[in-house]
Amino acid sequence: MAETILVVNGGSSSIKFELFEIDHGDALKRVLRGQIEGIGTHPRLIVKDANGAVAIDQTWSIDEVGELHDALDKLVIFLLDFVGELPIAIGHRVVHGGPDFVEPTVVTPELVKRLEHFIPLAPLHQPNNLEPIRFVMTRHPHLLQVACFDTAFHRGHPEVADRYAIPENLYVEGVRRYGFHGLSYEYIAQRLRDVAPDIADGRVVIAHLGNGASMCALSAGKSIDSSMGFTALDGLPMGTRPGQLDPGIVLYLLSEKGMGGKEIEHLLYHDCGLKGLSGISNDVRDLLTSTDPKAKLALDYLAYHIATVAGMFTAALGGIDALVFTAGIGENAPAVRQAVANRLSWFGLELCENANAKNEIRISREGSRVSCFVIPTDEELMIARHTLRILQRQAGGVIEEKQA
Ligand code: ADP
Repeated sequence: MAETILVVNGGSSSIKFELFEIDHGDALKRVLRGQIEGIGTHPRLIVKDANGAVAIDQTWSIDEVGELHDALDKLVIFLLDFVGELPIAIGHRVVHGGPDFVEPTVVTPELVKRLEHFIPLAPLHQPNNLEPIRFVMTRHPHLLQVACFDTAFHRGHPEVADRYAIPENLYVEGVRRYGFHGLSYEYIAQRLRDVAPDIADGRVVIAHLGNGASMCALSAGKSIDSSMGFTALDGLPMGTRPGQLDPGIVLYLLSEKGMGGKEIEHLLYHDCGLKGLSGISNDVRDLLTSTDPKAKLALDYLAYHIATVAGMFTAALGGIDALVFTAGIGENAPAVRQAVANRLSWFGLELCENANAKNEIRISREGSRVSCFVIPTDEELMIARHTLRILQRQAGGVIEEKQA
Protein backbone atom coordinates (compact mmCIF):
# COMPACT_ATOMS: atom_id res chain seq x y z
CA MET A 1 0.00 0.00 0.00
CA ALA A 2 1.12 3.58 -0.64
CA GLU A 3 1.99 5.83 2.31
CA THR A 4 -0.89 6.58 4.64
CA ILE A 5 -2.19 9.23 7.03
CA LEU A 6 -4.12 8.22 10.13
CA VAL A 7 -6.83 10.56 11.45
CA VAL A 8 -7.68 10.17 15.14
CA ASN A 9 -10.63 11.55 17.09
CA GLY A 10 -10.20 10.66 20.76
CA GLY A 11 -13.32 10.54 22.96
CA SER A 12 -14.00 9.57 26.56
CA SER A 13 -14.61 5.84 26.11
CA SER A 14 -13.94 5.46 22.41
CA ILE A 15 -11.43 6.50 19.79
CA LYS A 16 -12.58 6.91 16.21
CA PHE A 17 -10.04 6.75 13.42
CA GLU A 18 -9.77 6.71 9.65
CA LEU A 19 -6.86 5.78 7.42
CA PHE A 20 -6.20 7.62 4.15
CA GLU A 21 -3.84 6.47 1.43
CA ILE A 22 -1.80 9.20 -0.24
CA ASP A 23 -2.45 8.41 -3.87
CA HIS A 24 0.33 9.51 -6.24
CA GLY A 25 1.65 11.80 -3.55
CA ASP A 26 -1.14 14.35 -3.74
CA ALA A 27 -4.63 12.79 -3.50
CA LEU A 28 -6.29 11.25 -0.47
CA LYS A 29 -8.19 7.97 -0.62
CA ARG A 30 -10.03 6.66 2.43
CA VAL A 31 -9.09 3.01 3.02
CA LEU A 32 -10.23 2.23 6.57
CA ARG A 33 -12.67 3.60 9.10
CA GLY A 34 -12.97 2.23 12.62
CA GLN A 35 -13.14 2.71 16.33
CA ILE A 36 -11.93 1.34 19.59
CA GLU A 37 -14.91 1.40 21.91
CA GLY A 38 -15.75 0.29 25.42
CA ILE A 39 -12.35 1.31 26.84
CA GLY A 40 -12.56 0.54 30.56
CA THR A 41 -15.62 -1.72 30.15
CA HIS A 42 -15.79 -4.03 27.10
CA PRO A 43 -12.86 -3.13 24.85
CA ARG A 44 -13.56 -3.77 21.18
CA LEU A 45 -11.75 -2.86 17.98
CA ILE A 46 -13.93 -2.71 14.91
CA VAL A 47 -12.63 -1.59 11.53
CA LYS A 48 -14.29 -1.49 8.10
CA ASP A 49 -12.60 -1.08 4.73
CA ALA A 50 -13.57 1.45 2.06
CA ASN A 51 -16.39 -0.83 0.85
CA GLY A 52 -17.83 -1.22 4.34
CA ALA A 53 -16.57 -4.80 4.74
CA VAL A 54 -15.40 -5.66 8.25
CA ALA A 55 -11.58 -5.83 8.36
CA ILE A 56 -11.46 -6.72 12.06
CA ASP A 57 -13.96 -7.03 14.91
CA GLN A 58 -12.17 -8.12 18.05
CA THR A 59 -12.98 -7.87 21.75
CA TRP A 60 -10.72 -8.25 24.76
CA SER A 61 -11.14 -8.71 28.47
CA ILE A 62 -10.40 -5.81 30.78
CA ASP A 63 -7.29 -7.68 31.96
CA GLU A 64 -5.93 -7.73 28.41
CA VAL A 65 -6.88 -4.19 27.44
CA GLY A 66 -7.48 -2.17 30.59
CA GLU A 67 -6.51 1.30 29.50
CA LEU A 68 -6.35 3.55 26.52
CA HIS A 69 -2.68 2.85 25.80
CA ASP A 70 -3.37 -0.91 25.69
CA ALA A 71 -6.13 -0.28 23.17
CA LEU A 72 -3.84 1.93 21.09
CA ASP A 73 -1.16 -0.78 21.11
CA LYS A 74 -3.76 -3.15 19.63
CA LEU A 75 -4.56 -0.60 16.94
CA VAL A 76 -0.88 -0.29 16.04
CA ILE A 77 -0.62 -4.10 15.78
CA PHE A 78 -3.68 -4.17 13.51
CA LEU A 79 -2.31 -1.39 11.27
CA LEU A 80 1.08 -3.08 10.95
CA ASP A 81 -0.69 -6.29 10.03
CA PHE A 82 -3.17 -4.75 7.60
CA VAL A 83 -1.06 -2.03 5.96
CA GLY A 84 2.41 -3.46 6.57
CA GLU A 85 3.78 -0.26 8.08
CA LEU A 86 2.79 2.64 10.28
CA PRO A 87 1.23 5.75 8.76
CA ILE A 88 3.71 8.52 7.89
CA ALA A 89 1.69 11.05 9.88
CA ILE A 90 -1.25 11.29 12.25
CA GLY A 91 -3.78 14.11 12.22
CA HIS A 92 -5.66 14.58 15.49
CA ARG A 93 -8.91 16.34 16.10
CA VAL A 94 -8.38 18.65 19.07
CA VAL A 95 -11.47 20.46 20.23
CA HIS A 96 -9.78 23.53 21.70
CA GLY A 97 -6.93 25.56 20.32
CA GLY A 98 -7.60 28.48 22.66
CA PRO A 99 -7.19 32.07 21.49
CA ASP A 100 -3.84 31.66 19.73
CA PHE A 101 -4.00 28.68 17.39
CA VAL A 102 -5.46 29.78 14.09
CA GLU A 103 -4.36 26.78 12.02
CA PRO A 104 -3.31 23.11 12.32
CA THR A 105 -0.03 22.82 14.16
CA VAL A 106 2.75 20.21 14.35
CA VAL A 107 2.76 18.46 17.72
CA THR A 108 5.72 19.01 20.03
CA PRO A 109 5.98 18.44 23.79
CA GLU A 110 5.68 22.24 24.19
CA LEU A 111 2.47 22.29 22.14
CA VAL A 112 0.93 19.56 24.30
CA LYS A 113 1.76 21.62 27.41
CA ARG A 114 0.07 24.67 25.91
CA LEU A 115 -2.99 22.65 24.91
CA GLU A 116 -3.24 21.28 28.45
CA HIS A 117 -3.97 24.87 29.55
CA PHE A 118 -7.25 24.68 27.65
CA ILE A 119 -8.53 21.60 29.52
CA PRO A 120 -10.68 23.79 31.82
CA LEU A 121 -12.27 25.32 28.70
CA ALA A 122 -13.29 21.89 27.34
CA PRO A 123 -13.05 19.44 30.26
CA LEU A 124 -15.08 16.70 28.59
CA HIS A 125 -13.15 16.64 25.31
CA GLN A 126 -9.66 18.14 25.55
CA PRO A 127 -8.12 15.49 27.88
CA ASN A 128 -9.37 12.68 25.63
CA ASN A 129 -8.02 14.42 22.54
CA LEU A 130 -4.59 14.85 24.11
CA GLU A 131 -4.16 11.31 25.41
CA PRO A 132 -3.61 9.57 22.04
CA ILE A 133 -1.16 12.37 21.14
CA ARG A 134 0.89 11.67 24.28
CA PHE A 135 0.78 7.92 23.58
CA VAL A 136 2.24 8.39 20.10
CA MET A 137 4.86 10.87 21.38
CA THR A 138 6.07 8.27 23.87
CA ARG A 139 5.85 5.10 21.77
CA HIS A 140 6.61 6.48 18.30
CA PRO A 141 8.43 9.78 18.92
CA HIS A 142 9.53 10.27 15.30
CA LEU A 143 6.05 10.01 13.84
CA LEU A 144 4.75 13.39 12.61
CA GLN A 145 1.61 14.41 14.47
CA VAL A 146 -0.60 17.35 13.59
CA ALA A 147 -3.20 18.90 15.90
CA CYS A 148 -6.27 20.19 14.03
CA PHE A 149 -8.49 22.46 16.12
CA ASP A 150 -12.27 22.79 16.06
CA THR A 151 -11.87 26.41 17.11
CA ALA A 152 -9.24 27.50 14.56
CA PHE A 153 -11.59 28.25 11.66
CA HIS A 154 -13.40 30.80 13.84
CA ARG A 155 -10.38 32.70 15.11
CA GLY A 156 -10.79 35.50 12.58
CA HIS A 157 -14.15 36.63 14.00
CA PRO A 158 -14.56 40.38 14.36
CA GLU A 159 -14.19 41.57 17.95
CA VAL A 160 -17.94 42.10 18.43
CA ALA A 161 -18.49 38.40 17.69
CA ASP A 162 -15.48 37.24 19.71
CA ARG A 163 -16.31 38.99 22.99
CA TYR A 164 -18.86 38.79 25.77
CA ALA A 165 -19.96 41.95 27.55
CA ILE A 166 -17.87 41.08 30.60
CA PRO A 167 -14.85 42.74 32.23
CA GLU A 168 -11.66 42.81 30.18
CA ASN A 169 -9.64 40.61 32.59
CA LEU A 170 -11.95 37.64 31.92
CA TYR A 171 -11.57 38.14 28.17
CA VAL A 172 -7.77 38.28 28.51
CA GLU A 173 -7.71 35.00 30.43
CA GLY A 174 -9.69 33.32 27.66
CA VAL A 175 -13.41 33.80 28.28
CA ARG A 176 -14.34 34.38 24.64
CA ARG A 177 -16.81 33.21 22.02
CA TYR A 178 -14.62 30.57 20.36
CA GLY A 179 -17.12 28.59 18.30
CA PHE A 180 -16.69 24.91 17.41
CA HIS A 181 -17.31 22.44 14.53
CA GLY A 182 -14.69 24.49 12.65
CA LEU A 183 -13.29 21.50 10.73
CA SER A 184 -16.78 20.73 9.44
CA TYR A 185 -17.37 24.34 8.37
CA GLU A 186 -13.98 24.55 6.70
CA TYR A 187 -14.75 21.38 4.73
CA ILE A 188 -18.16 22.75 3.65
CA ALA A 189 -16.57 26.07 2.64
CA GLN A 190 -14.18 24.11 0.38
CA ARG A 191 -16.96 21.86 -1.00
CA LEU A 192 -19.04 24.92 -1.87
CA ARG A 193 -16.34 25.91 -4.38
CA ASP A 194 -17.23 22.74 -6.35
CA VAL A 195 -20.94 22.55 -5.60
CA ALA A 196 -21.83 26.23 -6.06
CA PRO A 197 -18.80 28.28 -7.16
CA ASP A 198 -21.03 31.30 -7.76
CA ILE A 199 -22.03 31.28 -4.09
CA ALA A 200 -18.82 30.16 -2.37
CA ASP A 201 -17.59 33.75 -2.15
CA GLY A 202 -20.92 35.10 -1.00
CA ARG A 203 -22.90 35.21 2.26
CA VAL A 204 -23.62 31.69 3.48
CA VAL A 205 -25.16 30.33 6.66
CA ILE A 206 -24.28 26.71 7.53
CA ALA A 207 -26.27 24.60 9.99
CA HIS A 208 -24.22 21.67 11.32
CA LEU A 209 -26.94 19.56 12.93
CA GLY A 210 -25.57 16.40 14.56
CA ASN A 211 -25.63 15.24 18.17
CA GLY A 212 -23.85 18.51 18.78
CA ALA A 213 -25.32 21.30 16.67
CA SER A 214 -24.19 24.78 15.74
CA MET A 215 -24.39 27.32 12.95
CA CYS A 216 -21.77 29.41 11.22
CA ALA A 217 -21.93 32.63 9.23
CA LEU A 218 -19.54 32.49 6.27
CA SER A 219 -18.51 35.57 4.36
CA ALA A 220 -16.43 34.83 1.25
CA GLY A 221 -15.51 31.43 2.69
CA LYS A 222 -14.40 32.81 6.09
CA SER A 223 -16.25 32.35 9.38
CA ILE A 224 -17.47 35.63 10.86
CA ASP A 225 -19.72 34.25 13.60
CA SER A 226 -20.75 31.00 15.27
CA SER A 227 -23.75 30.09 17.42
CA MET A 228 -21.48 28.25 19.87
CA GLY A 229 -19.42 30.35 22.22
CA PHE A 230 -17.09 29.76 25.15
CA THR A 231 -18.19 26.13 25.30
CA ALA A 232 -20.14 23.78 23.04
CA LEU A 233 -23.26 24.36 25.16
CA ASP A 234 -24.43 27.62 23.60
CA GLY A 235 -26.58 28.32 20.58
CA LEU A 236 -28.94 25.73 19.10
CA PRO A 237 -30.75 23.08 21.15
CA MET A 238 -28.91 19.76 20.71
CA GLY A 239 -29.59 16.11 21.45
CA THR A 240 -28.92 16.51 25.16
CA ARG A 241 -27.58 20.10 25.51
CA PRO A 242 -29.90 23.09 25.89
CA GLY A 243 -28.25 25.64 23.61
CA GLN A 244 -28.97 29.27 24.42
CA LEU A 245 -29.80 29.60 28.11
CA ASP A 246 -30.17 32.57 30.43
CA PRO A 247 -27.14 32.37 32.80
CA GLY A 248 -29.62 33.28 35.54
CA ILE A 249 -30.91 29.71 35.28
CA VAL A 250 -27.50 28.42 36.37
CA LEU A 251 -27.56 30.84 39.32
CA TYR A 252 -31.04 29.59 40.20
CA LEU A 253 -29.89 25.96 40.10
CA LEU A 254 -26.98 26.88 42.38
CA SER A 255 -28.76 29.01 44.93
CA GLU A 256 -32.34 27.71 44.96
CA LYS A 257 -31.91 24.06 44.02
CA GLY A 258 -28.65 23.56 45.89
CA MET A 259 -27.01 21.89 42.92
CA GLY A 260 -23.22 21.65 42.71
CA GLY A 261 -21.02 22.36 39.70
CA LYS A 262 -20.70 18.72 38.61
CA GLU A 263 -24.45 18.16 38.93
CA ILE A 264 -25.20 21.21 36.81
CA GLU A 265 -22.58 20.15 34.26
CA HIS A 266 -24.23 16.74 34.00
CA LEU A 267 -27.68 18.30 33.59
CA LEU A 268 -26.50 20.70 30.88
CA TYR A 269 -24.52 18.15 28.87
CA HIS A 270 -26.70 15.07 29.24
CA ASP A 271 -30.29 15.79 30.21
CA CYS A 272 -31.37 18.90 28.32
CA GLY A 273 -31.95 19.67 24.64
CA LEU A 274 -34.31 17.52 22.60
CA LYS A 275 -34.13 14.81 25.28
CA GLY A 276 -35.08 17.18 28.10
CA LEU A 277 -37.77 18.97 26.13
CA SER A 278 -39.47 15.86 24.73
CA GLY A 279 -38.87 13.54 27.67
CA ILE A 280 -38.67 10.89 24.92
CA SER A 281 -35.35 10.84 23.09
CA ASN A 282 -32.35 12.85 21.98
CA ASP A 283 -32.60 11.26 18.54
CA VAL A 284 -34.51 13.18 15.86
CA ARG A 285 -35.50 9.88 14.19
CA ASP A 286 -37.45 8.89 17.34
CA LEU A 287 -39.08 12.30 17.58
CA LEU A 288 -40.15 12.30 13.93
CA THR A 289 -41.95 8.96 14.34
CA SER A 290 -43.56 9.81 17.69
CA THR A 291 -47.14 11.05 17.94
CA ASP A 292 -46.52 12.57 21.39
CA PRO A 293 -47.12 16.37 21.35
CA LYS A 294 -43.90 16.81 23.33
CA ALA A 295 -41.94 15.30 20.43
CA LYS A 296 -43.57 17.86 18.14
CA LEU A 297 -42.69 20.65 20.59
CA ALA A 298 -39.03 19.57 20.64
CA LEU A 299 -38.87 19.53 16.81
CA ASP A 300 -40.65 22.92 16.59
CA TYR A 301 -38.21 24.34 19.13
CA LEU A 302 -35.28 23.07 17.04
CA ALA A 303 -36.62 24.53 13.77
CA TYR A 304 -37.50 27.83 15.48
CA HIS A 305 -33.99 28.26 16.83
CA ILE A 306 -32.28 27.28 13.56
CA ALA A 307 -34.44 29.85 11.77
CA THR A 308 -33.85 32.62 14.31
CA VAL A 309 -30.07 32.07 14.26
CA ALA A 310 -30.25 32.17 10.43
CA GLY A 311 -32.03 35.53 10.79
CA MET A 312 -29.38 36.77 13.21
CA PHE A 313 -26.56 35.72 10.88
CA THR A 314 -28.32 37.30 7.91
CA ALA A 315 -28.01 40.57 9.82
CA ALA A 316 -24.35 39.81 10.66
CA LEU A 317 -23.59 39.08 6.97
CA GLY A 318 -25.66 41.98 5.62
CA GLY A 319 -27.84 39.54 3.66
CA ILE A 320 -27.83 35.89 2.71
CA ASP A 321 -27.17 34.03 -0.55
CA ALA A 322 -27.38 30.43 0.67
CA LEU A 323 -28.28 28.18 3.58
CA VAL A 324 -26.43 24.85 3.89
CA PHE A 325 -27.52 21.88 5.99
CA THR A 326 -25.02 19.26 7.13
CA ALA A 327 -24.31 16.46 9.70
CA GLY A 328 -26.67 13.65 10.82
CA ILE A 329 -29.91 15.66 11.06
CA GLY A 330 -29.02 18.22 8.41
CA GLU A 331 -28.15 15.54 5.84
CA ASN A 332 -30.99 13.11 6.57
CA ALA A 333 -34.09 14.84 7.92
CA PRO A 334 -36.18 16.51 5.15
CA ALA A 335 -38.94 17.34 7.65
CA VAL A 336 -36.57 19.39 9.82
CA ARG A 337 -35.19 21.25 6.78
CA GLN A 338 -38.73 21.97 5.54
CA ALA A 339 -39.80 23.27 8.96
CA VAL A 340 -36.80 25.63 8.97
CA ALA A 341 -37.48 26.76 5.40
CA ASN A 342 -41.14 27.48 6.24
CA ARG A 343 -39.93 29.95 8.84
CA LEU A 344 -37.51 31.55 6.38
CA SER A 345 -39.80 32.15 3.42
CA TRP A 346 -39.73 35.86 4.38
CA PHE A 347 -36.19 36.19 3.08
CA GLY A 348 -36.99 34.35 -0.10
CA LEU A 349 -36.12 30.72 0.64
CA GLU A 350 -38.29 28.20 -1.17
CA LEU A 351 -37.51 24.50 -1.18
CA CYS A 352 -38.15 22.02 -3.97
CA GLU A 353 -40.22 19.39 -2.17
CA ASN A 354 -38.95 16.55 -4.31
CA ALA A 355 -35.24 17.46 -4.07
CA ASN A 356 -35.62 17.95 -0.32
CA ALA A 357 -37.31 14.56 0.14
CA LYS A 358 -34.42 12.90 -1.72
CA ASN A 359 -31.68 14.71 0.23
CA GLU A 360 -30.32 16.11 -3.04
CA ILE A 361 -27.42 18.54 -2.99
CA ARG A 362 -29.42 21.60 -4.14
CA ILE A 363 -32.82 21.55 -2.48
CA SER A 364 -34.03 25.09 -3.20
CA ARG A 365 -36.59 25.60 -5.93
CA GLU A 366 -35.49 27.15 -9.22
CA GLY A 367 -35.94 30.90 -8.80
CA SER A 368 -35.65 30.83 -4.99
CA ARG A 369 -33.88 34.07 -4.03
CA VAL A 370 -31.83 32.21 -1.40
CA SER A 371 -30.27 28.90 -2.45
CA CYS A 372 -30.32 25.91 -0.14
CA PHE A 373 -27.97 22.93 -0.12
CA VAL A 374 -27.48 19.62 1.66
CA ILE A 375 -23.74 18.92 1.79
CA PRO A 376 -22.47 15.88 3.71
CA THR A 377 -19.64 16.94 5.96
CA ASP A 378 -16.27 15.16 6.23
CA GLU A 379 -14.23 16.40 9.16
CA GLU A 380 -11.82 13.47 8.91
CA LEU A 381 -10.95 14.26 5.29
CA MET A 382 -10.39 17.88 6.34
CA ILE A 383 -7.94 16.72 9.02
CA ALA A 384 -6.19 14.44 6.50
CA ARG A 385 -5.90 17.38 4.07
CA HIS A 386 -4.34 19.59 6.73
CA THR A 387 -1.92 16.82 7.68
CA LEU A 388 -0.96 16.19 4.05
CA ARG A 389 -0.36 19.90 3.52
CA ILE A 390 1.99 20.03 6.51
CA LEU A 391 3.80 16.91 5.26
CA GLN A 392 4.25 18.55 1.87
CA ARG A 393 5.41 21.79 3.45
CA GLN A 394 7.96 19.87 5.50
CA ALA A 395 9.16 18.06 2.37
CA GLY A 396 9.52 21.43 0.65
CA GLY A 397 6.89 20.44 -1.89
CA VAL A 398 4.26 22.80 -3.16
CA ILE A 399 1.81 20.28 -4.59
CA GLU A 400 -1.69 20.69 -3.21
CA GLU A 401 -4.03 17.74 -2.79
CA LYS A 402 -6.15 17.17 -5.89
CA GLN A 403 -9.69 17.69 -4.75
CA ALA A 404 -11.84 14.79 -5.95
P1 ADP B 1 -22.22 13.39 15.82
O1 ADP B 1 -22.40 14.79 16.27
O2 ADP B 1 -22.15 12.39 16.93
O3 ADP B 1 -21.18 13.20 14.72
P2 ADP B 1 -24.15 12.91 13.68
O4 ADP B 1 -23.73 14.04 12.81
O5 ADP B 1 -23.87 11.53 13.19
O6 ADP B 1 -23.63 13.07 15.16
O7 ADP B 1 -25.72 13.06 13.95
C1 ADP B 1 -26.39 12.14 14.74
C2 ADP B 1 -27.87 12.52 14.83
O8 ADP B 1 -28.41 12.66 13.51
C3 ADP B 1 -28.73 11.47 15.49
O9 ADP B 1 -28.76 11.62 16.88
C4 ADP B 1 -30.09 11.72 14.88
O10 ADP B 1 -30.77 12.67 15.68
C5 ADP B 1 -29.79 12.35 13.54
N1 ADP B 1 -30.10 11.47 12.40
C6 ADP B 1 -29.32 10.52 11.85
N2 ADP B 1 -29.96 9.92 10.83
C7 ADP B 1 -31.16 10.51 10.73
C8 ADP B 1 -32.31 10.34 9.87
N3 ADP B 1 -32.32 9.45 8.88
N4 ADP B 1 -33.38 11.14 10.08
C9 ADP B 1 -33.38 12.06 11.07
N5 ADP B 1 -32.34 12.27 11.89
C10 ADP B 1 -31.25 11.51 11.73
